[in-house]
Order: sequence, then C-alpha cells, then structure tokens
Amino acid sequence: MKVALLLGPPGSGKGTVAELLRRAQGGYVHFATGDMLREEVKNGSDVGHEAEPYMKRGELVPDALIIHIVEQRLEMGDAEAAYLFDGFPRTLIQADLLDESLAQRGRTIDVVIYLATLREVILQRLTGRRVCKECGASFHIINIPPAVEGICDTCGGELYQRKDDNEETIANRLDVYNRQTESLIARYEEKGLLFSVDSDQGLESLMAQIEKRLGAGSAGSPQAGADA
Ligand code: ADP
Ligand code: ZN
Repeated sequence: MKVALLLGPPGSGKGTVAELLRRAQGGYVHFATGDMLREEVKNGSDVGHEAEPYMKRGELVPDALIIHIVEQRLEMGDAEAAYLFDGFPRTLIQADLLDESLAQRGRTIDVVIYLATLREVILQRLTGRRVCKECGASFHIINIPPAVEGICDTCGGELYQRKDDNEETIANRLDVYNRQTESLIARYEEKGLLFSVDSDQGLESLMAQIEKRLGAGSAGSPQAGADA
C-alpha cells in the first residue's frame, strides 16, 4: 500500500489533485492538515483557537500542534490503507516526525509528488478559489467553475472563499513556503523519492502523469462505493 506526499507551494493544486485522486482511485486515507485545522477552527476546539491566528496571517502553525493532530489521525486511521499526505510535512521537523511515525507502523514514503508552479499562476488560482463548506472540495470561478454558481458539484454544499485567500495573506504564505518548506524538495530528491510535475499543464494531463507514476490500483483495494 502506497504512502504518497503532495508537496508544492500554496495554490499549486494539492487539494484539487488529492480530490481527483480520491475519485479516480478511492481507498486513500487523505491527510490534509490545512483541512483538519479549518475543521478544528470551525468546531471552536482548543487546537482551533490556538491555530487560527497563525492561519489568518498565513504563517505555519507550531510543529507540536500539527504533529499532535496528525498522530491522532494516524491512530484512528486504517493502518493498512494507502495514505495521501497533502500540505504535510511543511518543515524538516515535521518530515523527521513523519518518517518516525511511519516507521513505527512498518511503512515508508513511496513517492513525493512535487507540483511545480509558476508564481504568476498562483495568485490567479488562490484569489479565484472557492471551497465547499460541507465536503471541502475546491473549485475556481474561472478554471473549475461549479455547474451552479456558489454550489458544490459533489455534495450540494455552499461554496465560500477562504479567509487566507486574500492578496496580502497569499504573499505571506508564499514567503513562508520559500523560507520553511521549499528545503523539503532537496531532502526528498536526495532520497530518490521526488516526482516533479508541471502543475500548470492542465488538469487532465497532470492527473494522467500522476496516476501513471502511482500505478493502477496503487491506493490498495478500493472501498466499495468509495467513488464519488
Ligand atoms: P495552502 O497550501 O494553500 O497554504 P493549506 O490548507 O494546506 O493551504 O494550509 C492553510 C494554513 O494552515 C497554512 O497557511 C498554515 O497556517 C496551516 N497549516 C496547514 N498545514 C500545516 C503544516 N503542516 N504545518 C504548519 N501549518 C500548517
Ligand atoms: Zn461539497
């Protein structure tokens, strides 16, 4: 069973790729730390209260907090399943911890999919992004418009714009990415795990490339009725 990571700057399409992979292959346990954090904020939990100010500024939430929620989710999750990590790890400390957690479970990272994106494309993507309140699916007012404006194609939920998808916060998130996360590319390249793809080539060919690299049925045995 595969363990795959999605690495790339904000706006590189990690969430979109994850959602399309889930639909195409099923059976993945999807770990999106950004989604988990937004859920905690929405629920008004202690973790949510602690994380919210960092997220609003576009800064990274402290490692200890992230590690806590990822561990919790790993404990709950199916130890046999294929894992897709999206937006995690983002620091070297998180990367070390992920290696340890996986090792304890007799697993290792199989592939790190790096979504290379031009800076110009990022701003356009993030300012036009709309997200489903219910299921978290991502749309874009121009690139991936929903069939009905403001409504999720998948579940009928209401679409909203993320608080951190404004120009000022986006600039800060890109800065943070360059300072704290980009160094992970070299780490995984040295380990021979990096699979770099041009994320600006159009979704169809992008997904074809990624699925080819993952291999057919790589997510493991698809759960019955797991497809959308
Ligand atoms: P994006 O990749 O577009 O910035 P995410 O949803 O992955 O969007 O992350 C949103 C925010 O959540 C980040 O700006 C950061 O504050 C927080 N966050 C998400 N994942 C992590 C992580 N692994 N480590 C620290 N902070 C994180
Ligand atoms: Zn939805």
